[in-house]
Amino acid sequence: MLNIILLGPPGAGKGTQAARLQAGRGMVQLSTGDMLREAVAKGTPVGIKAKEIMARGELVSDAIVSALIGERLDASAEQGAIFDGFPRTKHQAAALEILLSQRNRKLDYVIELVVDEDELVRRIVGRFTCANCGAPYHDHFKLPAVPGVCDVCGSTEFKRRPDDNEETVRTRMAEYRAKTAPILPYYEEKGLVRRVDGMASVDDVAAQIDAILDGTA
Ligand code: AMP
Repeated sequence: MLNIILLGPPGAGKGTQAARLQAGRGMVQLSTGDMLREAVAKGTPVGIKAKEIMARGELVSDAIVSALIGERLDASAEQGAIFDGFPRTKHQAAALEILLSQRNRKLDYVIELVVDEDELVRRIVGRFTCANCGAPYHDHFKLPAVPGVCDVCGSTEFKRRPDDNEETVRTRMAEYRAKTAPILPYYEEKGLVRRVDGMASVDDVAAQIDAILDGTA
């Protein structure tokens, strides 16, 4: 049972790759961003606290996200985990180590998606999803075949994340550089870091990750 972290700035493709691994390998995607968006949508106490922070592109408190991860680990104890968007600070990295060891689990790899930040802003600002089935689209790279109609389910409703505007994206990038990138040396020291070229195509990035997980890289 593998436990891995996907690490990289917003828009690097962590969510896309995590969803693919979840579908293909029976692992579970643990995305703190998705958990927080769900909490905001439901109006839970966590969601009420997180809403404005997320809209600004800043980080939600370590205690909140660590608690969310602990709950989800317990709910998926038999499956390998793909941590997507967590940990994002040194404190969260330390919390994850404790959460895993309490459950007799350990980290196998930290996969860094190496990307070009200016290109990322273009990727993020153009992205949108089907409001019904969640299929991902992009203004420049992947419009629906029939304009305004989802290729997968035929819905005509689409949505964009409120934090996918240029100003918030720049803040999210700055948060990544200041708080998240500095956790790489910590994992580097443990020999866990593997790098993949995140600017390659989705299939190519997927193949690079598969080679690492299968031990053929
Ligand atoms: P994401 O979907 O991973 O891009 O996360 C969206 C937003 O949720 C971030 O900009 C943060 O405001 C918040 N968030 C997600 N994961 C974390 C985390 N591990 N620590 C703190 N804030 C987070």
